Amino acid sequence: MAALVDESHRLRKKVAVHCHGDQAAREAIEAGVDSIEHGSFMKAETVTMMKKRGTFLTPTLMASEWIMSKIDDYPQVLQLKAKAATAARSEMFRNAVKMGVKISFGTDAAVYPHGQNAKEFKLMVDLGMTSIDALKSATANDAELLGIAQKVGTLEKGKLADVIAMPGDPTSDITASEHVSFVMKEGKIVRQGQPAAQKVTESTPSPDVAAPVD
Ligand SMILES: [Zn+2]
Repeated sequence: MAALVDESHRLRKKVAVHCHGDQAAREAIEAGVDSIEHGSFMKAETVTMMKKRGTFLTPTLMASEWIMSKIDDYPQVLQLKAKAATAARSEMFRNAVKMGVKISFGTDAAVYPHGQNAKEFKLMVDLGMTSIDALKSATANDAELLGIAQKVGTLEKGKLADVIAMPGDPTSDITASEHVSFVMKEGKIVRQGQPAAQKVTESTPSPDVAAPVD
């Protein structure tokens, strides 16, 4: 794995590792990967190692949230696994936030329908992250992780003007982020008016995608 990571970095590529287990995550972090996706069962010492090495954690809290909301539909053996993973990831994430591990934003969408990304923010805040840090995870931190911080991630002169706005103040009520009413991409306005949730509900009957914010 070290050789893979080494070669990827030599080619200026990032390495993301999708895993739940502690040992897999530890070996990946030791090999120098850029991020761990999920990391549900990571022990405190593994999280400490991430902090030391600057490895990003993408907690994908929505994935387990979605599965838990449909838990009765799964076979018994998967139910047990899902419950264990959800309990472990909550503990692991609280710990990572306390330790100051770099948190990136990702949702594992496809496990559930795309377009509900913003709901991840509230889950992050409910598990101990400040609202402003949760917002930064999806902006400045993700830009850093993806290696595109020179172009996006913060509002600064010289960067692309990718901007969203919403009624309310997401730093005091994070769920305001679920009702985006204004989107500017590279300086061009692509949405202005009603929050996305209302607009899309009209044309999309499925309740699963009733509040999309992409
Ligand atoms: Zn996954």
